[in-house]
Amino acid sequence: MLWIKICRKSLSITVNATVTVAQSMSIHQVSCRRMTSDAATRFDFLVIGGGSGGLASARRAAELGANAAVVESHKLGGTCVNVGCVPKKVMWNTAIHAEILHDHSDYGFDIGNFKFSWEIIKSKRDAYVSRLNHIYRNNLDKAKIEMIQGHARFMEDPEPTVEVNGKKYTAPHILIATGGYPSMLSDNDVPGANLGINSDGFFELECLPKRSVIVGAGYIAVEMAGILSTLGSKTSIICRQTGVLRNFDNFISTNCTKELQNSGIELWKNTQVMSVTKKDNGLLEVTLVTKDQEKKNDEEKISTILEVDCLLWAIGRQPNSAGLNLSQVSVDIDEKGFIIVDEFQNTTRKGIYAVGDVCGKALLTPVAIAAGRKLAHRLFEGKKDAKIDYTNIPSVVFSHPPIGTVGLTEDEAIKSWGKENVKSYKKSFTPMYHAITTRKTQCIMKLVCVGKEEKVVGLHMQGIGCDEMLQGFSVAIKMGATKADFDNTIAIHPTSSEEFVTMR
Ligand SMILES: Cc1cc2nc3c(=O)[nH]c(=O)nc-3n(C[C@H](O)[C@H](O)[C@H](O)COP(=O)(O)OP(=O)(O)OC[C@H]3O[C@@H](n4cnc5c(N)ncnc54)[C@H](O)[C@@H]3O)c2cc1C
Repeated sequence: MLWIKICRKSLSITVNATVTVAQSMSIHQVSCRRMTSDAATRFDFLVIGGGSGGLASARRAAELGANAAVVESHKLGGTCVNVGCVPKKVMWNTAIHAEILHDHSDYGFDIGNFKFSWEIIKSKRDAYVSRLNHIYRNNLDKAKIEMIQGHARFMEDPEPTVEVNGKKYTAPHILIATGGYPSMLSDNDVPGANLGINSDGFFELECLPKRSVIVGAGYIAVEMAGILSTLGSKTSIICRQTGVLRNFDNFISTNCTKELQNSGIELWKNTQVMSVTKKDNGLLEVTLVTKDQEKKNDEEKISTILEVDCLLWAIGRQPNSAGLNLSQVSVDIDEKGFIIVDEFQNTTRKGIYAVGDVCGKALLTPVAIAAGRKLAHRLFEGKKDAKIDYTNIPSVVFSHPPIGTVGLTEDEAIKSWGKENVKSYKKSFTPMYHAITTRKTQCIMKLVCVGKEEKVVGLHMQGIGCDEMLQGFSVAIKMGATKADFDNTIAIHPTSSEEFVTMR
């Protein structure tokens, strides 16, 4: 293939032959104009948000020769590193330790009484997160990406320009990767709501609460309830409907609800929080109202008061778009504030793009990273078709036991293909690990297949090891594997994963 190389003092861009001369000229000209008049510092690529998507995109763009800058208002690494995946996984690992310790005597160990220190794990976890913050900073420096600390907002000056701490920055390509934040209710919605914390606050807890209430039914509620309960906090989940994870396959949502209850978590179904008050002893009084399912009349409700040290709202996330002044530059948002983008991450304003949670689709770190990198290849390597495929995105819920899921739920498959064309295979069993333990969890697995050839369009599982089992199966499904392909694969024995290739 023919490549054109454009070299200048500090920049070398390799441009695919598919880039027109005009395009490559404009990349070159723009790159040469770092500082312009009107006090706006000019880059090739200006990224707002130093989280998963923003950093990945800026670094890939810099690798491809672009002069990039990142604006970050808080800590580098964004949600995932500071208040999401990373510290969450450390706490899940901690909880897994607690579970295994409980099984030790069944496996013949006498380790006497063991003590757990929340303070120790919190300080080690925080130190790890700080190390990551430094590593991210060093990576930017090494890649010669300018880091601008502060809150960015747009202005039209006369082209789209970003203002940070009174200084102006601009670029022909500006990426919004500002992520999101946890939704909270106000005191007007629920009196005393602000006495509770959200998932960010979870990572600030200085000690393990004795009694916790989690409001919500999504994956963050399930994960945080699991961690708190396994580490010894008496935990309740309050959910408005009949169970948790209601947008997952029914098989998973029913089983996860059961596992939570089996593990000792108290589940309040059809229940809402009406008010919260703080008592003199510092405890919170949380008043709940449960719809009585026996009664037809919606008004007939039962009121209960829980006394807890920690109330955690896990009721969804909102996009960080409000403070950006988007209307100034004609970037449209939807009714929930998510930035509207096309499949190439273009917003409604030419030259402004958005990736990650702020777009409201598949709110996961690897999705933000992949979208950011593809965009960099499209803008700075001339790969004009570079975009991510939003189908078959695997995801794991770090519940107890963990959940892995990829592709369509059975209901989604039926909706797309018709009931007569969908066949599902299911398996429930007790993993061999529990053959000699008094504590038990189930492993459940489901394959959703469509058509005569039984193409696998969905795979759902919950059980020990499912978190690490999913990635490989996702590759097979992405490649279009059929049930026969699964069946023709020799099993690995004795494992839980072998059940996927022996299902009948
Ligand atoms: C508790 C929890 C657990 C999670 N667990 C997982 C998991 O296990 N696996 C997984 O894949 N995903 C997980 N996620 C989701 C994951 O964290 C997000 O999908 C991911 O971080 C999104 O990346 P992003 O780049 O879109 O935004 P972010 O990582 O949130 O980065 C956005 C950055 O922009 C900055 N910013 C915002 N506004 C401005 C502004 N105006 N100016 C300058 N900077 C600004 C913010 O400070 C932030 O650093 C979890 C999330 C939470 C909350």
